Amino acid sequence: MATDQKLDASLIPLSSIKGVGQKLTESFMKIGIKSVEDLLFHLPIGYQDRTKLSKIAELVPEQEFVIRGSIEKVSQTFVPRKMLLVKVKDNTGHIFLRFFYYFPGLRKFFKEGSQIQIMGTSRLGRYGLETIHPEYELVSNELFVPSILPKYTLTKGLSQQRIRKTINEAIRLLKDKMIFIDDLLPNNNFQSLENALSRIHNPNSEDKIEDFLIGGASTFRKRIALEEIVANKISYLSVKEQNKSREAEVFENNFFAKKITENLDFSLTDDQKKAYREISSDLVKGSPMLRLLQGDVGSGKTIVAAIIAAHVVASDKQVAILAPTTILAKQHFDNFSNWFKDIAEVEMITSKILAADKKRKLRSIASGKAKLVIGTHAIFQKDTKFKNLSLVIYDEQHRFGVGQRLKLKEKAASFPHQLLLSATPIPRTMAMTVLSGLEISTIKSLPPNRKPIVTTSLSNDRRPALIQRIKEAISKGSQVYWVCPKIEEGESDLVSVEDLENILKKEFKKDEYEILHGKMKDKEKGDILERFKSEQIKILLATTVIEVGIDAPDANIMVIENSERFGLSQLHQLRGRVGRGTKESFCILMHKDEMSEIAKQRLSIIKETNDGFVVAEEDLNLRGPGDILGLSQTGLPSFMFYDLLADKELQEESNKIAKEVIMFPQSKQKKIIERWFPAHLELSDV
Ligand code: ADP
Ligand code: MG
Repeated sequence: MATDQKLDASLIPLSSIKGVGQKLTESFMKIGIKSVEDLLFHLPIGYQDRTKLSKIAELVPEQEFVIRGSIEKVSQTFVPRKMLLVKVKDNTGHIFLRFFYYFPGLRKFFKEGSQIQIMGTSRLGRYGLETIHPEYELVSNELFVPSILPKYTLTKGLSQQRIRKTINEAIRLLKDKMIFIDDLLPNNNFQSLENALSRIHNPNSEDKIEDFLIGGASTFRKRIALEEIVANKISYLSVKEQNKSREAEVFENNFFAKKITENLDFSLTDDQKKAYREISSDLVKGSPMLRLLQGDVGSGKTIVAAIIAAHVVASDKQVAILAPTTILAKQHFDNFSNWFKDIAEVEMITSKILAADKKRKLRSIASGKAKLVIGTHAIFQKDTKFKNLSLVIYDEQHRFGVGQRLKLKEKAASFPHQLLLSATPIPRTMAMTVLSGLEISTIKSLPPNRKPIVTTSLSNDRRPALIQRIKEAISKGSQVYWVCPKIEEGESDLVSVEDLENILKKEFKKDEYEILHGKMKDKEKGDILERFKSEQIKILLATTVIEVGIDAPDANIMVIENSERFGLSQLHQLRGRVGRGTKESFCILMHKDEMSEIAKQRLSIIKETNDGFVVAEEDLNLRGPGDILGLSQTGLPSFMFYDLLADKELQEESNKIAKEVIMFPQSKQKKIIERWFPAHLELSDV
């Protein structure tokens, strides 16, 4: 298709688009957009329906709307905070526009009496119906233009309007045949990539929005979904293909692995042993391993990873263990230090180490003295140099999403083995779809003697009874995680950590509870967690920072506030923090009286089953079309366009295409992976 005159969009810098200056270029850069092609692949995360004008009187709270009216009054207040308030009315009623951040000039822009078109989301505020920071334009006399507008992920310095305008300009270049997009999928029966991209960014006003959301029926959307699933497939297949011809070190020596297992105060379950056998057999093949170890929360993946690491250490080589949070890195550091006591040196690297410490740590890693290096992605900063990195373990692998720059290449001597750990069990059929090419080991059963967690739900008005129950439990030695969806008090109806503290401080002694959230300093977080683990604290009042991986075996009660707001997998992950010891455990799901149908279903599923595989499957079934956010919480590989259920029909086609693409030159394969999964690329590019 490409002609000589047209230019490849991936080679054209963004700045060549009309209206894109240096500032805008920098803003786009922040979300990884450098070329015109990057821009065109910045796909909408949703749409706004502007095909109908609403009447103000008919608006209900939380509705996205377009209205027209005249400005009745403009005022500025400073209490409780600086704010511009604009009252707009049509012939049915009035609504307030509220602006908290605005240029001084905005006040003059709104002239009493002028006609204005407003696009926003309504809500019920202290002044009645209102909308915060809506989009607006003055209307002279032109007709209302019905449209479906795309919504994009934003960043500082980029508004929806600005992105739309820039993308429209790029699409114009595409349509005028000034540029082209390299269509990397060989002949298929779908829309051309160019048509698909144009339409996805700019649906016709007659299009149905549902058809364009994830799982929708539009052939334009399907074409993009096909591209995405193929990219995903080849990102793994190409590593597998390349790995065949790569050499990796053989690690046979199980001396340390044995020693560690013998010193444990428990014995490995059959599933753990089986996983260990499978993984260790990869280590003797002579080519690099790429394997996923999946198992439900609390199934004991860490110890398996540790004895695998012991094989590498026994040959005097280095292992890196990547954790998604500092808290988790610290926990692994403590565990590994204990398991490898008298065997090997363990170092921890996070982004917040003291300068003095850092020097010593880096020296120890570079000299090969530190055999196990545990940390967050800070491990891969430029100045960490390994002597002979030979195995990389990614814990909670799905947290290392697209865009994470894992610069393994400069770190490893040759091709390291890679082991990915995941606490979101992926149903088998699904795994073959989305993880083809990846070897998978599964730990199905939990360690013995675990009592099942009893899960109940309580509406918010029963909180006094809950508090009574918690008091009794604490007096009998229980420890409690109490999770809130957000930190600060606010106008919304979510229970915040602050709200809850106000309640708890009247009911519990000051030294019985502590607060833990993501905005705290690492050291503080670590100390609090330490005190919780050693049972000095009874109640840990926390945000979802505790969701991943934290292991405090004696905690046996989990309270989740606003549980109606969480996805199934997230609820399951949170619940998995308890039920780790031998005490009977409880999970109490607090919720609002009024719940959506889907929220009710989620809570009833989570009450019925403790099995992560069932939860994962139900999670998929429950998501309606267009539920993009739901997906990002599942922990399953998250796709922007490909829908694991609705797009099953693309399976066969994508398998066929992937097999063809895998025969393409590396550079071409890379191009398509890079469009969708830059992080996978770096996984493969070692
Ligand atoms: P996850 O798979 O969620 O990462 P962990 O590795 O954190 O789970 O293990 C959860 C807890 O179970 C830890 O306290 C660990 O020491 C313990 N554990 C692991 N394997 C066994 C086992 N075979 N028997 C008893 N306890 C075990
Ligand atoms: Mg874990």
